[in-house]
Amino acid sequence: MFESLSDRLSGVFDRLTKQGALSDEDVRTALREVRVALLEADVSLSVARDFVAAVQEKATGQAVTKSITPGQQVVKIVHDELVSVLTGDSDPGKLKIDSPPAPILMVGLQGSGKTTTTAKLAKRLTEREGKRVLMASLDVNRPAAMEQLEILGRQIGVDTLPIVRGEDPVAIAKRAKTQASLGGYDVYMLDTAGRLHIDQELIAQAAAVRDAVTPRETLLVVDGLTGQDAVNVATEFDDKIGVSGVILTRMDGDGRGGAALSMRKVTGKPIRFVGLGEKMDAIETFEAERIAGRILG
Ligand code: GDP
Repeated sequence: MFESLSDRLSGVFDRLTKQGALSDEDVRTALREVRVALLEADVSLSVARDFVAAVQEKATGQAVTKSITPGQQVVKIVHDELVSVLTGDSDPGKLKIDSPPAPILMVGLQGSGKTTTTAKLAKRLTEREGKRVLMASLDVNRPAAMEQLEILGRQIGVDTLPIVRGEDPVAIAKRAKTQASLGGYDVYMLDTAGRLHIDQELIAQAAAVRDAVTPRETLLVVDGLTGQDAVNVATEFDDKIGVSGVILTRMDGDGRGGAALSMRKVTGKPIRFVGLGEKMDAIETFEAERIAGRILG
């Protein structure tokens, strides 16, 4: 679907005859291609621009290693810079869940994959770390969302807090906390309400829940295919609620994952996991190398 960056660059450098060191012009020409590749990978314009400027500074005047072509060399510089920006946490998959019961707050827009991701993480914590997990849906406006979590819980063998109609999100969160303490759970996960767009009520509700339980982790779930939108959502949630990490879903899709780069550059928040499908096992710890390779194509 996309021409890879290496292919683009070898074309560019075939036309150039410079030897010895990468000249200003070589680098500028190459970086135009890099910029296009980033934009095609859904990196936001301002981030692509800044990124290219940073690479330009690093690349200009660098001696060309004998064993590789100038094109390959620029690709390597770009790749290394991508990995450096994308790396946010030495151990992104390690959740802070000491001192049980540890609350994990899941936030994000409706349709981002929040409920699915809550269940995926619960399954992972149960199977890989032997944790006892309790899940609770706080989406009081959408009974179907509450039922969805219950169904997923049954499917993966993880307990959910019994649904009580008419309770507000803070009351549910407190009940989850009590139930988690009394029931000897290690972790309780709160799947907050999602909306199609961020609004004051959504933020106020998530903030009230946060204040009621003081989460050990607040994980923002965003659709990895939404590019610039994903970044705006992350900025807003982080400003208003405070986020300890980001989970990018739908990274199994056709997109090239540029949202990951924009996300890191703009919010500075670590990306902790990526969602890779609808199945309950389709989640992996974030790996900068892998996403860098994908962005470059
Ligand atoms: P919520 O409204 O944010 O809670 O979103 P849901 O968890 O209900 O997910 C919405 C849809 O996206 C469902 O059909 C999920 O199966 C699907 N989904 C969630 N995560 C992924 C993912 O990583 N990849 C793909 N392909 N689909 C996903």
